[in-house]
Amino acid sequence: MFKRNHSKGIASIVVIGTLLISLFAAQPNLGIAKSAKEEVYQGKTPKYVFMFIGDGMSYAQVSSAEMYLGEKSLPGKLSPEQLSFTKYPVHGALMTQDSSSFIPDSASTATSLASGQKTLSGVINMDESKTKTYSPITENLKAKGYKIGIVTSVPITHATPAAYYAKVANRNDAYEIGKQLATSGFDYFGGGDFDQKTGPKGADQSIYEIVEQAGYTIANTKEEILALNNRSGKVVAIDPDNYETALDYEIDREAEELSLADYVKKGIEVLDNKKGFFMMVEGGKIDWANHANDATASIYDTIAFDNSVKVAFDFYNAHPKDTLILVTADHECGGMTIGYSLTGYSTHFEKLQPVTMSYQEFDKISKQYKETHPANPKLEDLSDKIKGAYGLDLATLTSYESSLLNNAFTKFMSSETKPSNDQENVLYGTYNPLSVTLSHIINNKAGLSFSSYSHTGVPVPVYAVGTGSEMFGGYYDNTKIYNKLSAITKSARAK
Ligand SMILES: [Zn+2]
Repeated sequence: MFKRNHSKGIASIVVIGTLLISLFAAQPNLGIAKSAKEEVYQGKTPKYVFMFIGDGMSYAQVSSAEMYLGEKSLPGKLSPEQLSFTKYPVHGALMTQDSSSFIPDSASTATSLASGQKTLSGVINMDESKTKTYSPITENLKAKGYKIGIVTSVPITHATPAAYYAKVANRNDAYEIGKQLATSGFDYFGGGDFDQKTGPKGADQSIYEIVEQAGYTIANTKEEILALNNRSGKVVAIDPDNYETALDYEIDREAEELSLADYVKKGIEVLDNKKGFFMMVEGGKIDWANHANDATASIYDTIAFDNSVKVAFDFYNAHPKDTLILVTADHECGGMTIGYSLTGYSTHFEKLQPVTMSYQEFDKISKQYKETHPANPKLEDLSDKIKGAYGLDLATLTSYESSLLNNAFTKFMSSETKPSNDQENVLYGTYNPLSVTLSHIINNKAGLSFSSYSHTGVPVPVYAVGTGSEMFGGYYDNTKIYNKLSAITKSARAK
């Protein structure tokens, strides 16, 4: 029974009062600091900084990968198998809006992460008027003696990697971005190829020549890439198996092809030096898979991203007092969620296990069919291919699923596959109607769904471990990542 105790009552009032006062007194530090000057760090400066960016990766992308892995190793046990970085001791979350919209793009958000400034979608390291340039943290760190590495699974001139070395008013100026890569003086570029090999004028010099004349070695065979080390000088390692200038989707990658993790491992070997290094690593194909609403491809690329983070964590274990690892994202993509109207409270991740290829690989199959079967086409002709790619048996589809797929097949076989009305825009976006519908059917069977073929405005997670990691907890604006990293590396000695 409750017994009234006067002295305890007074003590409680004093404790609550003190708590309230300290809460209000603490307000100015609760993430509302306005500039880099207000980020205070007095700890040790890390010599090695890893910045991982899962492009388009928010909580659903991370959690669906964990559920998929859990279902694979312990079927039916509802036991997620955590990715390595979700076990890190510090968790935060970022607001991602830019100067154009609550739904940003990679150019503006990577500018915020790299340079601590908001700008318009499409703009890289320049202000909204496109006249003033911003300096990414990599320039500052390079001046302090850090070597700089930039790795991505998409083109090296794509918006996210570009924000760590280039300043352009338009992210599509890939030739200009490539030229700025050449003059950056940064030490290691690895992963995807250049988007534009020659300039807008036909007579412009090849981007490879420009990069080599600037003193870079271009390694574009597996043998050349594997032979690189910290005596190789400045290098650009271009994936020899790239498909349309990006690494293959992880689900399509052959075992002998280099993975994102291989480019991180090689980066450590190239950059290793006594003064330290900064490496930005982008899992860019997570974003592409989510644009296409291909949940299985997203899951595989999120796992590949985690494998690349594990390489950095091995390095951290060897240098625990000198290393900081940050894992975050630029924005969400696709509005992926775990849940679907027809599956209610259940999920069936086992339905994703038989999927063997990305929508992109299946597109090659369906296009070949279209070219060779122009007269009297039938969806059933593709039933074996659909079974092999998605594990879907056409005979077991519900009538709703069958009608969706038959309509998609008819649209795909027609002369005009671009959407011609709002309904087709919702159903297919700008994707191949057949493969995107197959993705939707398999996603929905698993209990997953998407709301968009574009990015969304939901926050993204931050995970941190190592020296300075305690700075990254809380919920704050994405520009603060730059401010915090600047504070942490402020006292690094200049060369
Ligand atoms: Zn995107």
